[in-house]
Amino acid sequence: MIRLCMAAVLLALSAARPAYAGAQTDAGAVPALPPAQAPTCHAATPLDRSATDLNDRAGWTCSNTDWRSNVPAVWLRFEADGWRGDEAPPRQFFSRIARFQSISFHAIDADGTVRSARHTEADAEPFASGPVFRLPLPAITDDTRLLLVRIEAPHSVPLLTEARIAQDPAAAAWPQIDLMLLAFVMGMLVLPMLFDISFFMVLRERFVVLHAAMVAAMMVYVLTAGGLASAFVTLPVALMAVLGPLSYAMGAGLSALFLIAFLERGAQSRVMRRMTFATAWFTMLVPGFFALQLDATQPFDDIGYFVTFLPYIAVISAAVLEAVLRGSRSARFITLAWLPIIIASVERLLRGLGWHVGPASLDQMIYIAVGIEVVVISLAIADRFLALRRERDAALTEARMLEQISTRDSLTGLMNRRAIEARFEELLAQGFDTFALVDLDRFKAINDLHGHQVGDAALVACASAIRATGDRDAVAVRLGGEEFVVLLRGQRTLERAEALRQAIPIRIAKEVPGLDLPVTASMGVVMLGDAGHHKMTFTEFYARADALMYEAKASGRNRLAYERLTVFGMAPERRRQEDQAA
Ligand code: GH3
Ligand code: MG
Ligand code: MG
Repeated sequence: MIRLCMAAVLLALSAARPAYAGAQTDAGAVPALPPAQAPTCHAATPLDRSATDLNDRAGWTCSNTDWRSNVPAVWLRFEADGWRGDEAPPRQFFSRIARFQSISFHAIDADGTVRSARHTEADAEPFASGPVFRLPLPAITDDTRLLLVRIEAPHSVPLLTEARIAQDPAAAAWPQIDLMLLAFVMGMLVLPMLFDISFFMVLRERFVVLHAAMVAAMMVYVLTAGGLASAFVTLPVALMAVLGPLSYAMGAGLSALFLIAFLERGAQSRVMRRMTFATAWFTMLVPGFFALQLDATQPFDDIGYFVTFLPYIAVISAAVLEAVLRGSRSARFITLAWLPIIIASVERLLRGLGWHVGPASLDQMIYIAVGIEVVVISLAIADRFLALRRERDAALTEARMLEQISTRDSLTGLMNRRAIEARFEELLAQGFDTFALVDLDRFKAINDLHGHQVGDAALVACASAIRATGDRDAVAVRLGGEEFVVLLRGQRTLERAEALRQAIPIRIAKEVPGLDLPVTASMGVVMLGDAGHHKMTFTEFYARADALMYEAKASGRNRLAYERLTVFGMAPERRRQEDQAA
């Protein structure tokens, strides 16, 4: 946000100055430098000999109107009034980077002497700073009355409207402040790139990749169309001229693909989704093609590029509008992000077509809009990130609940048989080497006498008795019916099991009043003893404990039978404990 404010301040400052220092003859110029001079007249038709006459202005347009680039050649006319009396006459020609075939200069002296020079696109040199190239002029002296410039096969209007001549190329440099702004925008683009990379590591969402690709295209755009690249390297004019509009078309196409991937499910109708997809590829391919500025398309590539951008503006606006109407939160972020870009692009479009002529500093609007776009979309991605995390957390909670449901017994809250079977090996490894099977005695009679509700209450009380709250060395399980298992580890497990067993009737009597008889329990206890390293399954334990339980029941109930497994042939030491209460 702070950066945005600074960028806005910079824009205001730069708008207050001419794009080319000295392009206007008054305030902006540095006094030491003779100002850059604009052509007094231009002509889009091939000139006949008389038109090159020093004083003949017939056939020329001598106002800042009627600029056309869709012609084989354009003449520019610079007159001596601009430099006569200057200590140093102009030596450089410069203009906005765009493709062209050649530029010829004819310096015509008062006595009719003509000095000519012809340069091709390859001779032109982009230079720091700004999207500007320069060419050396033939000698211009005090006697020179006219400089005629013939630009063959120009591919853009700004190449003509922003043409200037100056003594010192520094006069052509963009104001420092404009470059600082570009550098700021560049910085604004680097951050979302890092942001995207870190998001992708967590989210693995397609839209993050598309956004990163979009940001990369915008970086190329700022470097080439903004001319920032010339501060570091000197690229061929043709490359700079193509990369600017090409990266813009790519960025636009990618943004349409991003839109499809980023909008929530249901935010786009099928038709709109298809149209957005088609528009994405159309924009990358068709304006992308015109961006190449090939010889064959010279008469119309300028208009071709801008006109084929119109479907993009129309479809994307419609798609975002549709999504907003369908209640999409992402679409609201996108509206905020893209509105400035669309406004700036339309302005640039009209200026590119020559429908209105404005200072080149208006371009800064696009760069600022690009910066705003990227920051707002980054916020939108962060917002989505939080939403996805909320969804994930809710899913996790639900999963935990489901796990709870599937691993807990609903009546007593104890672990159920499924859970103990799943965890048995792990618990054994944790040292739970004593398996105590619990079965209530003559429980059917309780149900029959007092009803199931009382039976249930007795089961809950029994569970409380064996839960041994807080004891990390005991795990209680309800296997089903009135059958429980307690796994024990540590010292004196047999004594502790017996204590639990005896606690059951006391607890039930306390929690379920009105029972005629105490509800006792029988136990079958299996201890691994020094056979601890022997791997036994739950089923094996259960079978042995059940056999012991049968013994306990058969010999009168309300008692415990146990066996301690030993290493030698697993021969069990068997004991039966007589009824304690009797
Ligand atoms: P013993 O084990 O001493 O041989 O006799 P018992 O009466 O307990 O034997 P049995 O295993 O045949 O009966 C178990 C009874 O437990 C059968 C059923 O009525 C009761 N029971 C099983 N599950 C529940 C339950 O969830 N709630 C209630 N209230 N009763 C249950
Ligand atoms: Mg029973
Ligand atoms: Mg039973």
